[in-house]
Amino acid sequence: MDTDLLIVGGGPAGCAAAVMAASVGMRSVLIESGDSLCGALRRIPVVRNVLTVANGPDLAAAIEADLERCDLCRVELGRRATLVDAFDDRVEVTFEPVEPVVATGSVVATGSMEAASSHRPGGSRLTAPYVVVATGVGPLAPEDAGWLGGVAGRALPQLWEADPAAIDDRTVLVLGADRPLGTVARAHPELRARFVVAHPPEDAYKTEEIRRDPRVGLVAVRRLELGPASAPVTAEVETVEGERRTLTADLAFLNLGSAPAPPAGAVATAPSGYCPPGSQHPRVFTAGDLRSVRFQRIATAMGSGGEAALGAYYASRGLPTETGGPTLTDDVGVGPPGRTGGG
Ligand SMILES: Cc1cc2nc3c(=O)[nH]c(=O)nc-3n(C[C@H](O)[C@H](O)[C@H](O)COP(=O)(O)OP(=O)(O)OC[C@H]3O[C@@H](n4cnc5c(N)ncnc54)[C@H](O)[C@@H]3O)c2cc1C
Repeated sequence: MDTDLLIVGGGPAGCAAAVMAASVGMRSVLIESGDSLCGALRRIPVVRNVLTVANGPDLAAAIEADLERCDLCRVELGRRATLVDAFDDRVEVTFEPVEPVVATGSVVATGSMEAASSHRPGGSRLTAPYVVVATGVGPLAPEDAGWLGGVAGRALPQLWEADPAAIDDRTVLVLGADRPLGTVARAHPELRARFVVAHPPEDAYKTEEIRRDPRVGLVAVRRLELGPASAPVTAEVETVEGERRTLTADLAFLNLGSAPAPPAGAVATAPSGYCPPGSQHPRVFTAGDLRSVRFQRIATAMGSGGEAALGAYYASRGLPTETGGPTLTDDVGVGPPGRTGGG
């Protein structure tokens, strides 16, 4: 075996798993496809629901420092896990390089991984008794939003990538009511943008944070057909009340939500696409946003990462445990399979 625990994904869940594993004496290798840890946190300018920190970049830096101090965890950046195999006696993770890696602090550079791992066609491979998979979620493709038309082949930007200066004093059509709108709104109270937010009715539960913001106008729609022009934009909508309206705006952004994308292989996936801990192979533990459409928060990601590592530790000692913590059923939720967002 190459290590005691493999961890796939270096967000708050994977990093918490690494630190927890080290605290009970387990060596780990953390495989992260990005060029830094906690990349998602670096895009959150204001955080109001995590103890001791007020913004994502500070938290990312603190977590990175924790990992650098963690002698029992080896961090591998710029490596995408493509396959997780689970057997009676071990797990195997196959991975491939994403791009050249710059090593920082104790982070290990590309070459060391080559030496430590065995190779097989299509990638390198590491083995361990257990794996924590914490690959989070990625943006939902517009083609997957059944209520949205006129978007095929269009390169619409994501709202969380919007340059505040570029939307100040503009009317912005926001396609979907996912949580990044709340992040933009609370991070930029000075912004004079007008947000016209078209969303399907099943996203209504996501609008609590922003519905009282005077800059936000919510339009619950059954169908939206985006016009061909990119600036200004028009959209023909049919509201949930059956009214037909034309929305006009200076710019349009996607804010549809996210979908999980675990590596192929042994990670068990529910019809929704999520990977509940209680449904996994006994050697596979899932953590963070990947678990469920619900509980997609930094604090719960860290908690579940710690639980996952402890689950592996208890299993290694032959102690009875539920896999990775409480079973999360994500099929009681809102919307069709695959449509998600911070619930
Ligand atoms: C715009 C925005 C604002 C948010 N604001 C808040 C907020 O204010 N408060 C809050 O609590 N939460 C907020 N969230 C949610 C929060 O960011 C997530 O809940 C949290 O980051 C989940 O942690 P995670 O470790 O499960 O996943 P992630 O942070 O997504 O980490 C997963 C990691 O896995 C890596 N990865 C993916 N696939 C592979 C692979 N195959 N191989 C190797 N690595 C892989 C990714 O590169 C990533 O680094 C926000 C999210 C967004 C997008």
